[in-house]
Amino acid sequence: MFDGLSKKLLSIFDRMRNKGVLTEDDINSTVREIRVSLLEADVALSVVKNFIEDIKLKLKDRNVIKSVTPEQTIVKIVYDELVKFLGEGDESFNYKSIMIVGLQGSGKTTTSAKIANLVQKKLNKKCLLVSLDTYRPAAIDQLRILAKTNSIDFFEDFAVTNTPIEIAYKAYEIANKYDAVIYDTAGRTYLDDAMMEELLKIKSIVTPKDVFLAIDIMTGQSALNTAKSFNDKLNLTGLILTRVDGEARGGVALSAKSVTNCQIKFIGTGEKVGDIEAFHPERIASRILDKGDVISLVEKAIDANIADDVSNVKVGREFDLDGMETYLKQIEKIGGMKGIMRFIPGIKQMQAKLSETGMSDKVITRQIAIIRSMTPKERKNPKILDASRRKRIANGCGQNVSDVNKLVQQYEQIKTIMMKMTDDGFMKNMLRNFRH
Ligand code: GDP
Repeated sequence: MFDGLSKKLLSIFDRMRNKGVLTEDDINSTVREIRVSLLEADVALSVVKNFIEDIKLKLKDRNVIKSVTPEQTIVKIVYDELVKFLGEGDESFNYKSIMIVGLQGSGKTTTSAKIANLVQKKLNKKCLLVSLDTYRPAAIDQLRILAKTNSIDFFEDFAVTNTPIEIAYKAYEIANKYDAVIYDTAGRTYLDDAMMEELLKIKSIVTPKDVFLAIDIMTGQSALNTAKSFNDKLNLTGLILTRVDGEARGGVALSAKSVTNCQIKFIGTGEKVGDIEAFHPERIASRILDKGDVISLVEKAIDANIADDVSNVKVGREFDLDGMETYLKQIEKIGGMKGIMRFIPGIKQMQAKLSETGMSDKVITRQIAIIRSMTPKERKNPKILDASRRKRIANGCGQNVSDVNKLVQQYEQIKTIMMKMTDDGFMKNMLRNFRH
């Protein structure tokens, strides 16, 4: 979703790096270029204006012209601004009772199943899916099938003549038998009063802890007007952006928080039930600026937890390069470099070249080759990898010392994250986004 913006920003920073000392004119033209790249990414005008004003103020404050590392300072300022506009607010959600609303086709039904699946599989909470869409002929069947194929309970106790309100009453009566209930509501093709009134009524019956609006980001800025109207009526507690895997430019995500005053909680990244991610502004900002997103990478590997392979990996303080090798093999399994490319630091700038040469998947193979050139002792205790050992390893696998250094650095980053996970208690960490 942010590929275009990301490429533009990175090339702006690249040009600055080549310049060495920056003049005031350089700074002004950089700010102008950032403005254009935001507009081209379909970011709302008001957001672009505030974003640029903030950047200008901070640049003045930090006296970038005299700085010895102006480029890094600007990257940091832009990063902070991206995080701010993506929304630094509350990322948590309450799985106990969630009502999903939105226009027809916005992805409500699919998203309801995705969230139920996430809550049931990841949090191990018994979940009930309820369809309140008696208008769209196939909506109930669609949710029923999604529920069945993912072993989620589906609320069936209704007569075909029931209205959404009647179904809501009946479902609410049995809601306390479940840890979590997700209500999928009916949408219309456009905003209308009857729909809002019905949703308000349902909200008062099922008293959801969270009301999420699904918006299709392919509909661009108009999705935000829709969001504003829904929020005015229903007091939304969050947004879910769907079709993030499509060609949309990301402006909706960057504008949503300030235009609608609602936090984005999830993004839909495909049609399958597993294609949903919690929305973390810092991680997205890191990906946009190619700082990498090692945390998501590790989580993805853990999620894919092809358990047998990783059950022998020592975690936390004990994590060693044998473990790293196992994880790299996991990455190959979960879609290779293409699937995880967006998570790795610095990869975007290499992306075009890599895909041209078909090299992408070889990067992982080469990292595995580096680890295999080490002695068992080195793999167990990477601290002993001094300069001469690194040189030997590089020669052994026909790669550069800088490749070995990079691998060791990535290993250390992952180990730090793992230590944090195990120190805090893994589950506690996984659950940090969920409140009861
Ligand atoms: P509803 O009318 O709001 O309930 O929308 P649906 O859940 O039926 O979704 C409409 C279409 O969008 C379906 O074909 C879904 O498979 C598709 N869809 C939903 N979410 C996503 C997503 O995140 N990515 C992609 N590519 N398709 C999606």
